[in-house]
Formats: sequence, structure tokens, C-alpha cells
Amino acid sequence: MPQAPLIARTLPSLHRALDRLRARNATVALVPTMGALHEGHISLVRLAKRRAKRVAVSIFVNPTQFAPHEDLGSYPRTWKADIAKLTAEGTDLVWHPDAGLMYPPDFASRIAVEGPATVNLEDRFRPHFFGGVATVVAKLFTQVRPDVAIFGEKDFQQLKVVTRMARDLDLGVKVVGAAIVRERDGLAMSSRNVYLSAEERATAPVLYRALKDTAKRLRDGDSLAAALAAGAGSITHAGFALDYLEARHAETLAPIASVKDGPARLLVAAKIGTTRLIDNVKV
Ligand code: AMP
Repeated sequence: MPQAPLIARTLPSLHRALDRLRARNATVALVPTMGALHEGHISLVRLAKRRAKRVAVSIFVNPTQFAPHEDLGSYPRTWKADIAKLTAEGTDLVWHPDAGLMYPPDFASRIAVEGPATVNLEDRFRPHFFGGVATVVAKLFTQVRPDVAIFGEKDFQQLKVVTRMARDLDLGVKVVGAAIVRERDGLAMSSRNVYLSAEERATAPVLYRALKDTAKRLRDGDSLAAALAAGAGSITHAGFALDYLEARHAETLAPIASVKDGPARLLVAAKIGTTRLIDNVKV
């Protein structure tokens, strides 16, 4: 039977646990999550195990990255199942602070991110988001002081923002990206997929299919405008409200005029019913 992870809910207990884990200079990888763990998160834990001797997973539903109209209150919380999954993976430590510890009433600081955080993708539709993510990730990094941190390519812009921030602020953490884990029908796994009705769930894989078709058109020599118009057409035809479908430079996320200006990445965000889904593929 694998051993259950140490669970820390206060900074002194976190630091005691880390002192134990770091014995004989063992390296530590951190996997930041908001819980409601699925196979995508578990793939991050497995990559973390390959990159460091010890694995810490944080579970914290970060209020500062949700806008008032977003789903903070209803975000799925599945603590027991999460711990069972992390135990099965041999996770060493779970860091589970509460909102009062992370943001006491007199909390007054926020990390401002630019570069990949201001490229008119997620930031256009969720203006609060990256400031909240950067602030909580900076706190998690300084609390845990990991050698490595694993983030999913599922949130591609977030991965770029966090990578840039870790470098810019000399946080001493190597940020590593992990490939997207998908359901059998191609839908990118997400904690928010539980919001989908049966009908919406049946439609949802259209998003990945459209990304793949658009990438193929581009590789076959279609112009960006033609390929993106066809992709957007199939997404809206399936009943999604499209926020964006764009081809961007895979490193900087800057707009590109042609895939020859790449490496290129296709990124999409669209709403089906009240659920907003994001996905991306390389071209
Ligand atoms: P979340 O709990 O949704 O904030 O996600 C925590 C981490 O898991 C982030 O780095 C996400 O990018 C990553 N993640 C979420 N879904 C997937 C997925 N389907 N495949 C790979 N990584 C994922």
C-alpha cells in the first residue's frame, strides 16, 4: 500500500514537512492545482516524479483569478478522491492552505504580468486572470521553494506567463510544461467538464477536431485566414459561442501572418451553454 502524503495546511507545518522531504538534498517538484483532480493532473504528478526526488502538489482554489461572475462558488471540490489519487501516485506532500492564509484581510500586493499575459487571448476575456494566477503562483513558489514546477500545456498562455515570471523574478524554479491529456474522443480533460450536460458533452469534442483540421489545412498550405475561417465555422456551427480561434507564435504568443513565421500554435476558447472551454494544438 502506498503511503498517504503529508498534508500541510499552515506555513509552519509546510516548512516542517519540506525539511523532512529535503533530507540529503533531495530535489522537490511542485504541481500547482485547484483540486478536482483528473488524469491530466495525474500526468503532471508523474512527470514531476521523473524530474525530482520528491513531489509536492498544492490544492488551492485561488479566489483572485476568478472574476465576480465566474464559477468560484461552484468550482468542483473533491478532496477525498483527490487525496486517494495522489496517494496512489506516491505523492510526498499536499499543500492545502485556506484563502485566509493566502490572502489575510490586509493583503495588498499583486504581481503585474505583461509580455505573454497581454497578447489578447485569455487576457481579453478574463482581465483578472493572469494577475491572480501570477500572484498565487509566486506565493506558492516562495512558500514551497521547489526546484521544478510542472504546468500543463492545456493552459498554454498560463504556462508561458508563469515561465516568464519565474525567469524575470529570479524565482529559482525551472518551469516545465506537460502535454495535454484528452478523453478518448479528444476532449481535453478539465475539472470544468463536469458542468457539461450530456448533450453539450457530446458536442464538446468538436473543439479539438476543429483545431486538428485547422492545423492540417495550414500544414497543407491554406492561408491563415482561410484555415481559421473554416475552423471557426465548424465550431460555431456545432453551437459554440466562439471567443477566439487564433494562430500565434508558440513561444511569444505574438500574432503571426503565416505559419512560416512559427513555430505556430493554434489556440481556441469557446462557450458551450454556460461552460467555457479552452484548448490548443501545435501546427
Ligand atoms: P487546474 O487545477 O485546472 O488549475 O490545473 C492545474 C494544472 O493542471 C495546470 O497546470 C493545468 O494546465 C494542468 N492541466 C489541467 N488539465 C490538463 C490536461 N487535460 N492535460 C494536462 N494538464 C492539465
